[in-house]
Amino acid sequence: MKSKVNRRRFLTTLGMGVAATQTFSLAAGNIYAPIGNNITPVNPSEQFHSIGLKNIKVGGEIGRRIDITVHNNLLKIDVDKDFLYSFQHKNISNEGFVGVGKLIDATVKLAIITGDEKVVALKKHLVDEIIKAQEADGYIGNMKAANRMTKMWDIHEMGYIIYGLVIDFELFGEKKSLESAQKAANYIINNWNLIDSEWEKSVNIAKHVGITGIQRTMLLLFNITGDKTYLEFCIRQINLPDWNPGIVIGRKNRIEGHIYGYMAASLAQLELYRLQKDDKLLIPTISALNFLTLHDGMAISGGAGQVEIWSDDQDGRGELGETCATAYQIRVYDSLLRLYGDLRFGDLMERTIFNALFGAQSPDGRQLRYFTPTEGVRVYHNTDTYCCPNNYRRIVADLPPMIYYRTGNGIAINIYTESNAEIEMGDFSVKVTQKTNYPVSGDVVIQVDPSKSALFGLKLRIPAWCKNGSIQINDEPDKIETKPGQFVDVERNWKTGDTIRLNMQMEWRLVKGRQRQAGRVAVMRGPLLFCLNPAQNDALAKLDGADLGKLIIDLGSIEKTPVTDKSVRPDGIGCKLKAGNASFGMGNTQNLSLILTEFADPNGKCTYFKTPEINEGVVDELVEKLI
Ligand SMILES: [Zn+2]
Repeated sequence: MKSKVNRRRFLTTLGMGVAATQTFSLAAGNIYAPIGNNITPVNPSEQFHSIGLKNIKVGGEIGRRIDITVHNNLLKIDVDKDFLYSFQHKNISNEGFVGVGKLIDATVKLAIITGDEKVVALKKHLVDEIIKAQEADGYIGNMKAANRMTKMWDIHEMGYIIYGLVIDFELFGEKKSLESAQKAANYIINNWNLIDSEWEKSVNIAKHVGITGIQRTMLLLFNITGDKTYLEFCIRQINLPDWNPGIVIGRKNRIEGHIYGYMAASLAQLELYRLQKDDKLLIPTISALNFLTLHDGMAISGGAGQVEIWSDDQDGRGELGETCATAYQIRVYDSLLRLYGDLRFGDLMERTIFNALFGAQSPDGRQLRYFTPTEGVRVYHNTDTYCCPNNYRRIVADLPPMIYYRTGNGIAINIYTESNAEIEMGDFSVKVTQKTNYPVSGDVVIQVDPSKSALFGLKLRIPAWCKNGSIQINDEPDKIETKPGQFVDVERNWKTGDTIRLNMQMEWRLVKGRQRQAGRVAVMRGPLLFCLNPAQNDALAKLDGADLGKLIIDLGSIEKTPVTDKSVRPDGIGCKLKAGNASFGMGNTQNLSLILTEFADPNGKCTYFKTPEINEGVVDELVEKLI
């Protein structure tokens, strides 16, 4: 049997040197200007396709996160008191955000993923009660009559309720959910004239932030119903095609640079682009992507921003990485991956999922965070309601379809995790199974079981961190070496039982900090970032109160084989190394024996350390031009 193996790198010659031509102007109110004039988006058309939620089973750490989110979080919530009450009584006069729509969306999807009858019952209860409380004119929020549409965050809340109801129709076929969603959407469209030019001033929130989510909701309704009213709303009433606010750095009045608001709108633009191939719809997304990867907008954990707003100072403390922003970054990467067929977006996805995202949840699953700093104390959000807890539940439910995709000539594997999927290929189907303990090791055994022998391609993402890797097909003697940041494409006549052994060697690496972290390094292995939890390290007791970031580490002192560490997860690992602390009179003697734990360790307090030889560090492989 003949194998054809292609290694390809997409789009390397297609960008227009944006980084070189952009200037960063602090003088212009810290606005990182729209960069449309410098970008030619190459007019992409859909390369990869989602396989949906229904035909995939996920284990490993991603599966465990889904499981604990369902059983230790979702099913522990008091939905009647915390989520439904205000909608049943419509008694809120201002700032009434709850997040019930996001909860509905998450619960519908988690009901499909788990098939758990308690989750299905919860979904039905949420949907039934919300529909029962809907008013005759279609209003579906929780505000008193005089405050509807205009007070924060009524449109935002309703937009997500409608979204959740449409997803209920899409996945469960519930017609009454769609009818209710359309009535509510029509209410918003009919009352949109209340959102005039004075509205921004009255609420002191930029309009695109205040209406976050409504754009994608209306596009979903158009895609489901074919009713052009919803498409026209996006094009004419909110002018989605021309939205391009630039990257505004730092929190100020009207929170213009709101990452969540920005990424939600750019995600909607990417979806509108699929309907009308207008290149300008890609510009704000590419602008944000370049800011994140090339201009220090993204922390090493994958999280971004301070106090919900774009930031490029690499300050790892405090309000870093709003969970909502993290969730929408992942969705935008997924959308770009499908559009450009470039698996390098998967590198951004796995970094963000395994670090910033899972760091936003307690190891037992019950508690969720608003922000997940890399330096200093991390705190949990104090309610089950509001944006971040519910966007966390939603994105966890959205992860399974990001593992496998359909491609033009076959299948792509993007995320490595124990899993299997049944993928429809036209007149046959393929069951793909991954056996792996990734991200503990980079060994993945992939079994391919087509329903009949067939010629198709199987693409594997080789992360940019993987400097040495290989694949072996069945027991064929020749191993094929992989290249970092490029995908392997094996096109052959596949038959049941065919197996690929993917070996990605995971080496410890020190990643150089930038901006405020310049001169220091963080420890990574594969997609995992490691942090220092003082409570895990008796050796630090004598340094009580010390600045942990002054500890000195070097690559040579790291034990090659990771140690077992259950701080985050049952199969978790730690990094054993020696550290010194010059400022405490010990010199660089490397006399402290320390364990660094996975970044999601809730008591992690420090990620960057000093090093005697900064050139042992490497530039973060995600600082790369993608489009
Ligand atoms: Zn949030």
